[in-house]
Amino acid sequence: MEKMQFKAESQRLLDLMINSIYTHQEIFLREIISNASDAIDKLAYTALTDDKVGVSRDKFAITVTRDKKAGVLTVSDNGIGMTREEMEENLGTICKSGSLGFKQAMEKNEEIDIIGQFGVGFYAAFMVAQKVTVISRKYGQDTAWKWESDGADGYTIEQANRDAAGTDVIMQIKPDTADDNFSRFLEEYEIRMLVKKYSDYIRYPIRMEVSKSRLKEDAPQDKPEYESYTDVDTLNSMIPLWQRNKKDVTEEEYEGFYQEKFFDYVKPLRTIHSSAEGTVSYKALMYVPAKAPFDFYAKDYKRGLQLYSAGVMIMDNCEDLVPEYFQFIRGVVDSLDLSLNISREMLQHNRQLTIIAKNIEKKIKSELKAMLETEREDYEKFYAAFGRQLKYGTVADYGAHKEATQDLLLFYSHKRGKLISLAEYVEAMAEGQEKIYYISGESTQRMGKLPQVQALEQKGYDVLLFTEDVDEFIPRTLMTYLEKSFCNAATEDLDLQTEEQKQALEEKKTQMEGLLTFVKETLGEAVQEVKLSGSLCTVPAVMTPGSGMSFEMEKYMKRVNPDMPIPGSRILELNPEHPAVQAMQSAMVGDTQKARDYAQLLCCQALLMADLPLEDPVAYTNLVCKLMQ
Ligand code: ADP
Repeated sequence: MEKMQFKAESQRLLDLMINSIYTHQEIFLREIISNASDAIDKLAYTALTDDKVGVSRDKFAITVTRDKKAGVLTVSDNGIGMTREEMEENLGTICKSGSLGFKQAMEKNEEIDIIGQFGVGFYAAFMVAQKVTVISRKYGQDTAWKWESDGADGYTIEQANRDAAGTDVIMQIKPDTADDNFSRFLEEYEIRMLVKKYSDYIRYPIRMEVSKSRLKEDAPQDKPEYESYTDVDTLNSMIPLWQRNKKDVTEEEYEGFYQEKFFDYVKPLRTIHSSAEGTVSYKALMYVPAKAPFDFYAKDYKRGLQLYSAGVMIMDNCEDLVPEYFQFIRGVVDSLDLSLNISREMLQHNRQLTIIAKNIEKKIKSELKAMLETEREDYEKFYAAFGRQLKYGTVADYGAHKEATQDLLLFYSHKRGKLISLAEYVEAMAEGQEKIYYISGESTQRMGKLPQVQALEQKGYDVLLFTEDVDEFIPRTLMTYLEKSFCNAATEDLDLQTEEQKQALEEKKTQMEGLLTFVKETLGEAVQEVKLSGSLCTVPAVMTPGSGMSFEMEKYMKRVNPDMPIPGSRILELNPEHPAVQAMQSAMVGDTQKARDYAQLLCCQALLMADLPLEDPVAYTNLVCKLMQ
């Protein structure tokens, strides 16, 4: 017999469990039963391809045994079992992210109420037991092993006996204290209730010996007598939630299932329970989570739905069931049409699966759309967590999936000061407005003050303010939305003038030709061109890109690929109506140096407004000071 210590992290979790004044102690049973069910799943899966397993599907079961006198509660399964090494590895370490989340929350003493939702794992047994013994025999091995621990000072492992593969978790229940009635966990009623509450849909029967009473047969008819006897009952209904009728499932059951299955302590925003019959038949239970898992945007995030065939899980993360742009959806799909021992490779080319995936995609889209239309607040929560994913999905593969995602996008509306969809933008377009205007930058507040945005606002046109890197790729990918084309207000000609105004601008151009040449000469290589613009109402000058690629896009390109040569050419556009420009023109006649200073100044100001760096901020400051003196 060997005595061993828990790994440090695990020991701390154990201490919390043992000493917790935690109100959800009862979940220990759920945890132990769910481990038993997982272990049976594994053996059932093995049995699909291995004739030697010898347990037929209807013989798999979980057994709960109560010994009230000894104060012992045992949960046994005939699942895959554990080797000695596995016992050490699995029962000596925290494995699950749920356990870690639980520990963190407990340490911070926060939100004790939601903690009942954590999957805390095997250690939960120590909330109610002073000693836990695990006897397990791995399928295919002759020896069984016994693991034992009182939580506090490590655990021991020694050889043991067990007739067949499987595991017994034997819990010596704590004695009752002044505030805690632990012995209730040995009562038939309590166990029955807990199994119904937490483990009803476990696919294998959870059996327990129970006492019943019946009419005594030989009692006289006028004086019926009762006798008690024991019987073995199956405590759970075994029908997975997704197989049940929608109307028979409560909101709590849906949420509880989600939180337990996907280790999330936040309730989902929406539950999608659907089924299909016809060319393929399947049941799907899917959820829209409220927040992204911490690793959601990481490369190795495992997307996909759990795939079941007739109640047996055949794949944990079946990627082929949900497209990448909907990879935030969690859930299960169960279909009778898939053969049980289908391999991963074969699944990819499975026609049934392709049809199911197509249906599921449509369903998800319509549910999200319904949410956008009728549950806006929830949708915005969802969008804050996963909107980026939808945007990436829209631009991926040159827009091949835009039909599925474009209607679900939201952008910040300058006019309304909130997020709106493209459809809402188009619907509210002003008279005479032909295009969907957008501009990108770092903050919506700053963008709102830009001259281009101001000019559009004066016309009564709304502008979508883009703040994420991926945003600008969207109009480039979509090209049009509801037959309206997009216009980047920072790079394209806004074309807001009337014919007369255009005429007047042409005349101005002839008058100011000398000034334009002068400014270009003064600024030299800093700008590619100097021209007049008719759409700047509030400022003297703006800088626009000469390449068609917006400055924001240039910045983005530089960030992702620093070596890429960026065209970086700039055009200075002057507002002929602005007093400052007119002052420059007057100075050009009498005081050329002053006019040059003005040209430099306007150029710097235009760079600042475009959020571009000044070549020489000190020179700029000196210039301003010189003009002030
Ligand atoms: P989790 O179930 O999330 O992995 P647990 O702490 O509940 O975390 O269990 C740790 C591991 O111990 C399980 O993953 C499993 O490998 C093993 N285990 C627990 N109970 C059993 C059991 N009844 N039969 C076989 N293996 C088990």
